[in-house]
Amino acid sequence: MTLFEKIIARQIPSKIVAESDDWLAFHDISPQAPVHVLVVPKKVIPRVGEATPEDESLLGKLLLATQEVAKALGISNTGFRVVINHGRDGGETVPHLHIHVLGGRPLGWPPG
Ligand code: 5GP
Repeated sequence: MTLFEKIIARQIPSKIVAESDDWLAFHDISPQAPVHVLVVPKKVIPRVGEATPEDESLLGKLLLATQEVAKALGISNTGFRVVINHGRDGGETVPHLHIHVLGGRPLGWPPG
């Protein structure tokens, strides 16, 4: 099982923000902003570059989930960023697709 499958299965505790049949949203253990949540599909897709056309609907649901998380945590009006890291140079460390939702402070651009 991936680390995030264990979180989804409640084998590893997390601070859950929201959940649907398709995804779980929980606070990142090492927040990089006042709000830092991960939206993770319950279906294991290792990384965004390995998603298939079959995943089209699920990918849309994940993006809409970031909207729900931002509203729930009060950063929808001030603004937020969604990030997906793919592979070594992208900074991916957990091989289970996840979308970072970051906000609660002005975020720099370009990213490091
Ligand atoms: P990546 O670097 O793969 O894009 O993001 C992985 C994220 O998972 C990191 O931001 C990291 O802090 C977070 N993370 C790693 N282990 C855990 C954990 O056990 N619990 C939670 N909530 N987040 C984790």
